[in-house]
Amino acid sequence: MGLSKSRLPITDTPIFVEVMINSKTLLATLFMALGFWSCSSPDEAKNKPQVLATTSIVADMAQHLCGDFADITSLMGPGVDPHLYKASHGDVELLAKADVILYNGLHLEGKMSDILHKLEKEKSVIAVASGVNSSELRRINSDADVYDPHIWFDVQLWKKGVQHVADQLGNQFPTYKGKIDSNALQYLTQMDSVHQLCSELVNTLPRERRVLITSHDAFEYFGRSYNFTVKGLQGISTLSESGLKDVTDMVNFIIDNEVKAVFVENSVPQKALRSVIDGCKSKGHDVVVGGELFSDALGAKRTPEGTYLGMLHFNVSTIVNALK
Ligand SMILES: [Zn+2]
Repeated sequence: MGLSKSRLPITDTPIFVEVMINSKTLLATLFMALGFWSCSSPDEAKNKPQVLATTSIVADMAQHLCGDFADITSLMGPGVDPHLYKASHGDVELLAKADVILYNGLHLEGKMSDILHKLEKEKSVIAVASGVNSSELRRINSDADVYDPHIWFDVQLWKKGVQHVADQLGNQFPTYKGKIDSNALQYLTQMDSVHQLCSELVNTLPRERRVLITSHDAFEYFGRSYNFTVKGLQGISTLSESGLKDVTDMVNFIIDNEVKAVFVENSVPQKALRSVIDGCKSKGHDVVVGGELFSDALGAKRTPEGTYLGMLHFNVSTIVNALK
């Protein structure tokens, strides 16, 4: 997918729909409903706090915590790769106007580090990852404190991020603290329900089939959480290009482990993974694309994959169905 910098203005009140995990129809309704927002009057909108999030995944968290009293804007839209994203002039204006800025952290937004650090001196700039203790993170460089930033794929870690952001927003907007706390509680409960549903789906897949191969290494926390062996063709960041050796190693790994399907991602070009599929074919092993996963960006608004919980459920269903 491309690197277009489409922005998502997200406003107003999420409609609460109770999670009923035994009904697929109702679950789909929940994911859809969480993507719809009602309208407010122009006077109300004028005085609303302005909350700016970097990625669509962080913006979705903000929407659940404070969407009923604040205007939420996401800098990055569907399919945008946060590792490569640079702030445009228009973004700099939005960042300057925002009352609060939310970002993932752990260098996910690697090319925005300078501007985020600069803004920290002027206003509240909150990293979701600050809610997670470093002992729970995946260290990716033994010589330095460099950690895997894709923490949203472990629901337990993301819940800590939600609580941290809720606490910080409560400090920033004391008038709305009670509302933020109750929104957080409601959202954390929904997260538990969807995680439970995902775990049940994964448990239908035998352990030896739980091998997840993707374009880049976004799913290590997912693998840790749901007991998958995970391999990404590119590294933790899409900044590093995969080379021929990576392709050869991956082809051999797929053949050795009799893997049936690999997965492309919505925010990463598919070309390199296609060469892996061709490499397997040339050695007599048929491997298919099991589907497109949502990794570093949500799907389009008003679709189930346009929310964090909908995206998680979609990914797990896609993976389980393709590897069965
Ligand atoms: Zn990534």
